[in-house]
Amino acid sequence: MGLFDRTLVRLLPAVPRPLVQRLAGRYIAGPEVADAVRVVRGLNEGGKAATVDVLGEEITSVEEARSLTDEYEQVLAEVDLASLDASVSVKLTALGLKLDRELCRANLEEVVRDAARRGNVVTIDMEDSSTTDDALALYRELRAAGLDNVGLVLQASLRRSLADARELADLRPSVRLCKGIYVEPAELAFRDFGAVRANFTQVLEELLDSGCYVGIATHDEWLVEEGCRLVAERGLDSGRYEFQMLLGVRSSLGERIVSEGHRLRIYVPFGRHWYAYTLRRLQENPKIAGYVAADTLGRLLPGASARQLPARSERP
Ligand SMILES: Cc1cc2nc3c(=O)[nH]c(=O)nc-3n(C[C@H](O)[C@H](O)[C@H](O)COP(=O)(O)OP(=O)(O)OC[C@H]3O[C@@H](n4cnc5c(N)ncnc54)[C@H](O)[C@@H]3O)c2cc1C
Repeated sequence: MGLFDRTLVRLLPAVPRPLVQRLAGRYIAGPEVADAVRVVRGLNEGGKAATVDVLGEEITSVEEARSLTDEYEQVLAEVDLASLDASVSVKLTALGLKLDRELCRANLEEVVRDAARRGNVVTIDMEDSSTTDDALALYRELRAAGLDNVGLVLQASLRRSLADARELADLRPSVRLCKGIYVEPAELAFRDFGAVRANFTQVLEELLDSGCYVGIATHDEWLVEEGCRLVAERGLDSGRYEFQMLLGVRSSLGERIVSEGHRLRIYVPFGRHWYAYTLRRLQENPKIAGYVAADTLGRLLPGASARQLPARSERP
């Protein structure tokens, strides 16, 4: 990332919300469940599975947590009705973790039970390190209650993840492995790019060797190659792993993964709480300055925007 891009990333929270909203279009299906259904249907037609995220990590009240729980159940119903190949992903803070742990547990259990009735699965997204213990504990509690249709996420950037993978091994969890997006203190997380990659590979090997189903969630081509190598070395078929990517990010890499015969799941966020999610995606986009500049130019010179901003399929 160039100096200008890095500076812009630091300044992004000061960028006017309407501009961020325009740039959100590439990462988010839209505001309504129907938008998510439309995008998932298109992905399924292209041979990709999906996992749907109802955006809502910024909630501040019990009523909002209730309303998001209802929205998840609406998504599960729509997916069922349309026979779509899509699971759901939930953030514990969106279900009320920071308001009341027991309320969060009840909301989570309700969604997982609803998914079980419909033959579907729920993945618990992993948020910042203040939530890791709760996420692991809630996962264990649901499994102990006999709910097997729930998975969780481990973050390769966290130093603890290898130990967490080992401690979870007995349960043979379904795990999404990603690098981890949250900025954490050095005593908790690897900061060095190579160290995160090395830990990703090590945790991945641990998960594969202990018989877990692994979602290899990355747009890092090097790690995708490593993932392919590790599953091939072990002779694993597509019942043991899949690749996962985010909507709007490096779709050409996704096409390659599918064309090589691997299963690919796309993470599809939708909803009205789009701001925090979009900021994180923009901060990871190495060409952020170009997009912001193109959008700004588009507003100054009406008609220029469409020419400057590449179509979704052409974007990295
Ligand atoms: C399906 C899925 C679910 C996830 N769930 C979680 C979760 O629960 N908790 C969590 O902490 N993190 C989650 N993440 C985010 C993840 O932790 C990383 O922050 C993110 O995937 C970027 O890391 P990377 O492995 O793609 O590698 P990077 O090295 O960051 O990216 C590799 C390349 O991909 C491209 N790229 C990456 N992001 C963008 C972007 N926004 N726009 C354009 N190009 C981009 C760049 O060209 C970059 O060179 C998830 C990611 C995926 C794919």
